[in-house]
Amino acid sequence: MNRSHNYYAGPAAMPTEVMLEAQAELLDYKGTGMSIMETSHRSKEYDAIHCEAIEMLKSLLGLGDDYSVMFLQGGASMQFAMIPMNFLNANNSADYITTGAWSKKALKEAKIIGNAKVAASTEVDGVFTSLPKQTDLTLDPNAAYCHLTSNNTIYGTQFSKFPTTGNVPMVIDMSSDILSKPVDLTNVGVIYAGAQKNLGPAGVTLVIMRKDMLEKCNDGLPTMLSYKTHAEANSLFNTCPTFPIYMVNKVLHWIINNGGLEGMAKRNEAKGKLIYNAIDGSGGYYVNKIAAEDRSLMNVVFNLPTAELEAKFVKEATAARFFGVKGHRSIGGIRASIYNAASVESVTAFTEFMAQFAAKNS
Ligand SMILES: *Cc1c(COP(=O)(O)O)cnc(C)c1O
Repeated sequence: MNRSHNYYAGPAAMPTEVMLEAQAELLDYKGTGMSIMETSHRSKEYDAIHCEAIEMLKSLLGLGDDYSVMFLQGGASMQFAMIPMNFLNANNSADYITTGAWSKKALKEAKIIGNAKVAASTEVDGVFTSLPKQTDLTLDPNAAYCHLTSNNTIYGTQFSKFPTTGNVPMVIDMSSDILSKPVDLTNVGVIYAGAQKNLGPAGVTLVIMRKDMLEKCNDGLPTMLSYKTHAEANSLFNTCPTFPIYMVNKVLHWIINNGGLEGMAKRNEAKGKLIYNAIDGSGGYYVNKIAAEDRSLMNVVFNLPTAELEAKFVKEATAARFFGVKGHRSIGGIRASIYNAASVESVTAFTEFMAQFAAKNS
């Protein structure tokens, strides 16, 4: 086996153990003589996978029966629209904490639907390099919800602690850091995440909703755009993305077998320490200007002295089988996306590559 160091931002690396299991079951799932992808979403084989995935998610996040777990389609981008469609009306508004490209897109969709206000924005000259402090937020105590992006995939910032929003429920886009560490979900009404970063392959979007929020959803929406439809049908109103959900089930088992969210946090902190130490200890060759407490453990962004050196770095890193390290096209530089599946050994190898590159090219 010759697995690469996969640092793509998404779709992203999957645990090798999970891939091997899926490979072994591909043609014959548990003696059925069929792949699970060829099996009805109404079959007992599929149903067991589906329900188990929901139970594992609840147990990993410590959620009780007051939460509904849904598997939807359309990506996190569809949630940017579904959230305001379900929660905004002519008499209310929502607050948006804007900390990056994805939260801006969420805000844009909300403005199409209703009254969305910016509770804080850390945009300076078109880019985001920081997160707001609690005192920077202008929160409306009557808002229907307050939207937050927990990890900014493009800019490499991550909330280490969520802001306090009083009685206003938070709606959090956790696409790029879900299940990467234990989180305090007090006052969180909705979590959503496209699967393709930390949960599984592209094609399924996880939505977790507190049931009191579900009750508040607007009526009169197209059936498929109403959360009530999917919650009431246990995400089986229509054909759900069975194969991606099957892969998510396997990733959840992998997380549980590797220490749960505490285990993931330990692994991610160790990787973060390695790579940020490599940056900060490079004598200014590698630069990451984000405040230590705001630095992402999932997407590590940095710059080299020149754009030419950055291009050379990407080329040589790729040749050394570190894939996906080119920064997002909107900001350039380097980005190493080291989600749960990236191992400590892999990140150690990357920091060695960084040290060698700096020694040869300074
Ligand atoms: C990738 C990403 C998205 C977009 O996800 P899609 O599934 O492609 O729609 C939204 N929010 C965040 C934080 C992301 O990282």
